[in-house]
Amino acid sequence: MAELIDGCRRRIDYLRLSVTDRCDLRCTYCMPPEFDDYEPPADWLSFDELDRVARIFVALGVSRIRLTGGEPLLRGRIAELAQRLKSHAGLRDLALSTNGTQLARWARNCAKRA
Ligand code: SF4
Repeated sequence: MAELIDGCRRRIDYLRLSVTDRCDLRCTYCMPPEFDDYEPPADWLSFDELDRVARIFVALGVSRIRLTGGEPLLRGRIAELAQRLKSHAGLRDLALSTNGTQLARWARNCAKRA
């Protein structure tokens, strides 16, 4: 198994993947006063690109990935990306950081599909 070692000889096994810079909150420590606008979606990494990055890092020994943003639940079809990422052999933990504002909407949508 390959190992990813940083310049201080620490083994890196954790990757945070930002799937969007957008957020529905405006926390002051996160939003600089000079904030102008979000990146256009055309500049975001595609799901194929995010999946490729994840595959490469898992091959290098990363075993934990956390999806972040901005608010990752604002990225359309994020569940589809999670499905793809969890199929990588060697990935032990797939997590998501959220501010929680979208969870009720997600729960309603999941309940409709069940
Ligand atoms: S990404 Fe997190 S810290 Fe930044 S504005 Fe949104 S909720 Fe606040």
